[in-house]
Amino acid sequence: MGLSAGFATNRGLMRRTNEDSFLVRKGLYVVCDGMGGARGGEVASQMACERMVAIDPASAGKDELRAAIVSANESISARSLAEPLLLGMGTTLTLALIRDDTLLLGHVGDSRAYLLHDGALRQLTDDHSWVGEMVRRGELTAAEAAVHPHRSVITKALGTDSEAEPDLVEVALEPGDRLLLCSDGLSGMVSNDSIQELLRRPDGAQAVADALVEAAIKGGGEDNVTVVVVDLAADEDPGVGADDAGEAAPSDADGAADEDEVTLGPTERGRERSSVPGFMRPALGMGAKLSRHPPIWARPAPQASPATEGLANPGHRSRRRWIATAAVVVVILALAVAAFGVFNSNVYYVGTSDGLVALYRGLPATVLGIQLSSVIERGTVRYDSLTDDQRKQVDAHGLIGKEEGQAFLRGLAALQ
Ligand code: MG
Repeated sequence: MGLSAGFATNRGLMRRTNEDSFLVRKGLYVVCDGMGGARGGEVASQMACERMVAIDPASAGKDELRAAIVSANESISARSLAEPLLLGMGTTLTLALIRDDTLLLGHVGDSRAYLLHDGALRQLTDDHSWVGEMVRRGELTAAEAAVHPHRSVITKALGTDSEAEPDLVEVALEPGDRLLLCSDGLSGMVSNDSIQELLRRPDGAQAVADALVEAAIKGGGEDNVTVVVVDLAADEDPGVGADDAGEAAPSDADGAADEDEVTLGPTERGRERSSVPGFMRPALGMGAKLSRHPPIWARPAPQASPATEGLANPGHRSRRRWIATAAVVVVILALAVAAFGVFNSNVYYVGTSDGLVALYRGLPATVLGIQLSSVIERGTVRYDSLTDDQRKQVDAHGLIGKEEGQAFLRGLAALQ
């Protein structure tokens, strides 16, 4: 069957980063929606997509899909435990492998796969979400779930579960079918009726992908949104994959997939630029500010120089100068103490308190017998129950932001 794919992603209107990732390769299509503090979401979704590149669409079956998904789960989980910034990261994964007239779906989380067949839309995946399970048990209607405050709580993800349990589904395809993979930034912003209407358009896959993302942005753009649209034609068409990009869409990245080309995205953002772990930014930012302007307490204090000391008849002038100098020194010291106080109240680190892992505000140091930090939150996890790796993270006393520290405590508690 001839395949023609289009894709688009956008970070939306409310999020500062795009934590979705996608993979488009002829016969293999993946959408992942990452989650986790700092850079965790981006890293997890990207790792999952990168792991799927190894799947060979020409030969892979359910076993290979399951093995790739299990392996992605293990890699994400191991990295999450090894890097404190990434602790607790995870990602959804919705994967479509198309060979001949068969679609093989692998699915974890609340990203979705839809099929438009004979003009009718069918959702192929069950959301692994709290509200999704309530709907399946008949305790909530789909309409209630769509606006439920806990609709984004997912019950399965790669990286956070000890074992990956993907849904693996086989679906028969026919020429003229149109497949859609999307993150919840689309399904949460655009109704199924509107998705169906947009997929029914006679435009190419890329134009439809752009239109879907545009609709999600117009619908509020509350989340990152990623879509992959795949059209199935009766025969291999030499023009397949060279789909027109259509009219401009508000996308961070979009484009039609070329034959035999692997497209991993989003690649347009500064992910690679961000080599500094997110949680270090507050502390480093402050340090950078101080170093651009030399610390005021390091400037040579105006004081009597040999030249002034050599002046005859210092008298009153000399005493006034001494008083003025002392006043300047006092003011400078006061400013230095104030600046240090502001700095010290904006940095946090994780340590131990009464045997429990705890979050401290301030610097992990003592000066003249005065401790420069205090406990602001004591966790529930005992230090002696931690693994060696986790103890190293705690003992490092790295300076972090408050939210990252709190996420670290929660992550440790979740792992117990
Ligand atoms: Mg999302």
